[in-house]
Amino acid sequence: MLSNKLLNSVLLSIMLTATLSAAAGRPQIVAHRGYWKAEGSAQNSIRALVKADSVGADAVELDVWISADSVLYVNHDPDFGGIVIEKSNSKVLDKLRLANGEQLPTLDSYLETAKGLRPDIVLEVKTHSDPLREDLAVAMIIDMIAEKGLTDRTSYITFSRNSFDNLVAMCGRQVQFLSATDPDMLRNIGGTGADYHISAYRANPDWIKRLHDLGLTANIWTVNSPADIQWCIEHDADYITTDEPELAMQLVDKAFAPRRMTIMTYNLRFGELADMDRLSAEIKKYDPDFVAIQEVDVNFDRAAAKLNRGLNYVNELAVRTGLFGYYGRAINVGKGYYGVGILSRYPAEKIEKFELPNPENGEQRVMLAGTFELPGHKFVFASTHFDYLDHNTRKLQAQYVVDRLTHMPYPAVLAGDFNATLGQIYIETIRSRMKDLTNNRKTWPADKPKEKIDFIFAYPPQDFELKSCTVPEPSKKSPSDHLPVISDIIVKF
Ligand code: MG
Repeated sequence: MLSNKLLNSVLLSIMLTATLSAAAGRPQIVAHRGYWKAEGSAQNSIRALVKADSVGADAVELDVWISADSVLYVNHDPDFGGIVIEKSNSKVLDKLRLANGEQLPTLDSYLETAKGLRPDIVLEVKTHSDPLREDLAVAMIIDMIAEKGLTDRTSYITFSRNSFDNLVAMCGRQVQFLSATDPDMLRNIGGTGADYHISAYRANPDWIKRLHDLGLTANIWTVNSPADIQWCIEHDADYITTDEPELAMQLVDKAFAPRRMTIMTYNLRFGELADMDRLSAEIKKYDPDFVAIQEVDVNFDRAAAKLNRGLNYVNELAVRTGLFGYYGRAINVGKGYYGVGILSRYPAEKIEKFELPNPENGEQRVMLAGTFELPGHKFVFASTHFDYLDHNTRKLQAQYVVDRLTHMPYPAVLAGDFNATLGQIYIETIRSRMKDLTNNRKTWPADKPKEKIDFIFAYPPQDFELKSCTVPEPSKKSPSDHLPVISDIIVKF
């Protein structure tokens, strides 16, 4: 048990701030026992700490024991070369040499070096044979971390429930449990996060999401192969604990590098002017990642669409373009549907249809929005087609789509036919919150364009940069009465 004096000094010196907070997308790299594979290094050595810093690791993990004479040492196993740390005095322990020639580091010397370096500290309290000695170790560790000014940069991990409870009681909520525990239970016992072996996460595929929903972080160990590192990136790990920090950083950098994306919006004029081959060729020409399509018939025997009567346009276009196809019904027509669609290079996690405000009971309009799974991150893409008859309806529709898309859990792009032009309140309402990713080229009618009514908008604005925007030359032979808009963008999330 802890003395009151020690406990008070610990409590006074601890700030209740969580070092390991939920990362927005990009996982942090934790060098497991330092970067011990680097030349001249050894596990849990000060050299391994310095090496982790030199390659830019976000944090270092280290293991701590208390000696028989109450000195804290950094080592993974209970013993070093057969000398059990808990049972030995510092006189003996200080003579021990690591594989790289360093003295077995005391926690004091380790933290003295860590103070001047960039990586955060992920400190594992080892499970001692005597719980009372373990209690003392925890108290001394927290005190020393505070003394060195490292409180805000330190998180604690442990397999020991005894140490876990002490850490939770004494250092706010900056404690990750190493023993795989259900997320709800982990929160109930006061953990700030999980630090589990990758096999535990693989066996419980909903745990990372549940941890995040509870406001807890997911740290994963020990992740060394490219396939496992990629798995962690794709499953929203907050921390990747690895013996291969350089490899992990390369893969994370690659997954989160600003990347280009091609977005297209295209009103198909319900297939009146061209068959599915021509329409899909027009789309494929630009090799888009996402396409918002409007005036999309499904299974409707439309007399005006002679070349496409009764077809499912989304399926036809998806097959021809090699993209995934998704559909949002706006209204029933004949024995089929009329609405909007999305073609996507990436699979959807979920698709939602939103009915747009329609106070005058005009033709019902919709927005189809999907959450898509791109490597390393998620993204919302939406397609819509506004009312064109009533001022108040269109105004409400503009406000509605902005409200929806600025409250999505991921960055969002909205593309479509807005039946409105720059300077009109409908477009300006959207532009006041979302970034316009198009140029000023007119889009309608396709043979002699008089207006620009097709747009691509994005939120949050700082996550998107427009590289170029293409609107093809006007033509009497255009496959639709609208010209498509194709934007090449850089996304930074
Ligand atoms: Mg450890």
